[in-house]
Amino acid sequence: MPKFKVSRWFLLLLTVFSCKSAPQEHPNAHLVSFTLDQKPKNIILMIGDGMGLSQVSAALYENSNRLALEKFPVIGFHKSYSYDNLITDSAAGATAFACGVKTYNGAIGLTADTIRCRTILEEAESYGLATGIVVTATVTHATPAAFYAHQDLRIMHDQIAADLLKTEIDLVIGGGKRFFDNRELDNRNLYEELQSKGYIVSDYMQNDINQIGFNAKKNMVYFTGDKDPPAAAVGRDYLPYASKNAPKFLQNRSEKGFFLMIEGSQIDWACHNKTEEWAIDELLDFNRAIEEVIEFARKDGNTLVIVTGDHETGGMSINEGSRMNKLKIEFTTNAHTGALIPVFAYGPSAHLFSGIYENTDIYKKMRQAFGFSDSTSALNYR
Ligand SMILES: [Zn+2]
Repeated sequence: MPKFKVSRWFLLLLTVFSCKSAPQEHPNAHLVSFTLDQKPKNIILMIGDGMGLSQVSAALYENSNRLALEKFPVIGFHKSYSYDNLITDSAAGATAFACGVKTYNGAIGLTADTIRCRTILEEAESYGLATGIVVTATVTHATPAAFYAHQDLRIMHDQIAADLLKTEIDLVIGGGKRFFDNRELDNRNLYEELQSKGYIVSDYMQNDINQIGFNAKKNMVYFTGDKDPPAAAVGRDYLPYASKNAPKFLQNRSEKGFFLMIEGSQIDWACHNKTEEWAIDELLDFNRAIEEVIEFARKDGNTLVIVTGDHETGGMSINEGSRMNKLKIEFTTNAHTGALIPVFAYGPSAHLFSGIYENTDIYKKMRQAFGFSDSTSALNYR
């Protein structure tokens, strides 16, 4: 059986190139290797919204040439276009990851024919896995919504919030409290309905996230804002903390494994706004979350971690005159662009993610890694 021996390969390189000075440890040197037939018990999908190769490069060079993504042994690219537009939006982009279908921009968990598609989160739930979502947008924002909701348009926040109660999702962390307890659509109080369903529900007004504890005896929802959570630059720091605790929480929720989606949501907003400082702050916050997740996966040994973006935002470029930690960044647009998007994979079945493929293949590769049967897939859903 062929083996995926990343560390040995780098040791060989170090031996060749480091005859005179003491070899520096390569960032990959401590990582364990996996056999090609090893399946993960857990999958953590991390999405940097709007994070293309320029954003990754900018974060690297603004962080003294070091990034958690350097620890990932497998790298690929996905084609981010949607069903109706070469330039995808986050709703179609996330639906491609969640359901494996190209759909129209704006669609949440629906095919291009507006048929509901079973998401990988819902499918994982049906197999008895624990599931979770941690984001720095509202929990009803397009990217997280596409993993649990089925609505014609991403702007239908109240309807998307109601869809959350149709799932048995174990953990939800993000903003958007108002779509649960101060709704325009109806007088339902979903905050209380979640509590009646047996969830521990808390929010930024009640407790600091550091005080909630991650007691896995019950499902948990924690709202980090009434609407959008603040930017990292003004003190939002829960993403790395939540990314550290969510995997352990979910691990204790089910012996069968878990599926967790973590989004660095505001990278996209910063690039729409053409504000490079905001973008770098969000990218480095996401980098700290990746550090926590890779540390969990390294110790656990049964967790596949995938980091990617849904699309690039802003047409970011790193221009002449840039120096390490002092980049000259410009944007060509305030919208999304169509560049190929890098995919980084670590853990059992990571090798599936090398090469160039459709964004919908990320769904297929995750299902293949989990070993899910065709009979439970996205389009077998009524
Ligand atoms: Zn966007």
